[in-house]
Amino acid sequence: MNLSMCLDKSKSRTTSRNSKRVQSAQATFAKMMLAARQQSAAPAPINNDKPACHQCSRLMNDMGSRCPFCEHKFCHECLQPCLSCNGLYCSACSIMDYSTPVERSQCITCMFP
Ligand SMILES: [Zn+2]
Ligand SMILES: [Zn+2]
Ligand SMILES: [Zn+2]
Repeated sequence: MNLSMCLDKSKSRTTSRNSKRVQSAQATFAKMMLAARQQSAAPAPINNDKPACHQCSRLMNDMGSRCPFCEHKFCHECLQPCLSCNGLYCSACSIMDYSTPVERSQCITCMFP
């Protein structure tokens, strides 16, 4: 009689100890997940600070350049220097001249004064 009661007690004690260990493991896992989520969320605000090119939507590493005509921001690849005023204009605000061997672009202001 007494022996069986003693066994029951020890059995219940081990199960409660096991569930405690599982709980702490879950807490550690939750902490790890939280840390991973915080790490992945960290670069997002930096990306938002970077301006995206108005033409190719590529995120620029620097602040990029603003087209003085349409005032949108463009990466350096999407801006062409005007042969007349040397200002950097986007492809929408400058006209490419393919008649010459070297591609020349002229901004709208210089093209239609
Ligand atoms: Zn671009
Ligand atoms: Zn423009
Ligand atoms: Zn110009």
